[in-house]
Amino acid sequence: MSKSIHLHGKPDMSLKPSPEHVPLGASGVAVFPIAWGMWRLADRDGRDDIGAVIARIEAALEAGITLFDTADIYGAGEPVGFGGAEALFGGALARRPELRARMIVATKGGIRRGWPYDSSPAYLAEALDASLRRLGLDHIDLYQIHRRDFLTHPRELADCLAAMVAAGKVRHLGVSNHSPAEVEALQAFLPVPLVATQPEFSALHHAPLHDGTLDQAMARAMAVLAWSPLGGGRLVGGDHPAAVLFAEQGARFGADPAAAALSWVMAHPARIVPIIGSQSPERILRARNALMVSWTRSEWYAVLAAARGAPLP
Ligand code: NAP
Repeated sequence: MSKSIHLHGKPDMSLKPSPEHVPLGASGVAVFPIAWGMWRLADRDGRDDIGAVIARIEAALEAGITLFDTADIYGAGEPVGFGGAEALFGGALARRPELRARMIVATKGGIRRGWPYDSSPAYLAEALDASLRRLGLDHIDLYQIHRRDFLTHPRELADCLAAMVAAGKVRHLGVSNHSPAEVEALQAFLPVPLVATQPEFSALHHAPLHDGTLDQAMARAMAVLAWSPLGGGRLVGGDHPAAVLFAEQGARFGADPAAAALSWVMAHPARIVPIIGSQSPERILRARNALMVSWTRSEWYAVLAAARGAPLP
């Protein structure tokens, strides 16, 4: 007799984020279920010395985090300028080279200020070399196309990305802010699988539940890296109905609202990896408390209803 008959028996089965590492698609690499991002690394005048950057990296590593996400555009519009976040991260790695072996380094290219998108092969090849120089690395573990450039044919882009992999400058490829159709078009011309997609996802931005992003990722076994999982901080504190539920749920498990907001993202069966954006070592360390918070189905859906501002149909 089958032993699986009891699997679906418990109506209030809790949804708890798994502490297991999450496969980065077909890469053969798995990452801690929470990642750390550097969009805000360079946005505080005078505070972003290399020592402060190292403190944040150390907090992330202590939390268990292995995936470190940056982009060449991070820093543009700030005093450090385009490439500034990569340069700060590279400066930290130059001072503490032993940390590199504990990281999966992800960056992105394809956005230029005022341009605004360029994935033409000539530009992207230069952009990758510039990222490698700023980071002080000989290869990027995950290179992501930051946003779709409508003026580059996916075949041209695929050829360029495949050449980056063949040259050993990039280990694995991913995309960000791409629709499922855009992923399909690019994948159709690529000889290697796209291993990750990076949409915005949180209770404030739950479109990926409905627009095919998460379904495609599950069907193609791609990793999902969620940007702004706390809604850029708006889901922590404040009176947004979802933020109120996160505060309550966190308190039930002795955790803060941020932990509850992250665990809500992580409870999805696509095993979404939230990329936290805090630049506070204490808050980076506390993010792992997300693993303490679980949800019943009704609690999880209550957040979605609160986020929609309307009951579910
Ligand atoms: P987030 O985690 O949703 O927001 C982080 C912000 O929330 C920080 O300003 C943080 O401030 C604040 N915050 C307030 N209370 C907090 C608490 N209790 N715990 C943690 N944070 C708290 O993420 P995000 O910074 O918007 O984005 C995260 C990462 O996603 C970026 O670094 C980047 O890697 C990626 N991203 C990608 C794209 C894309 O287009 N692919 C776009 C945006 C972001 P403190 O620093 O003071 O803690």
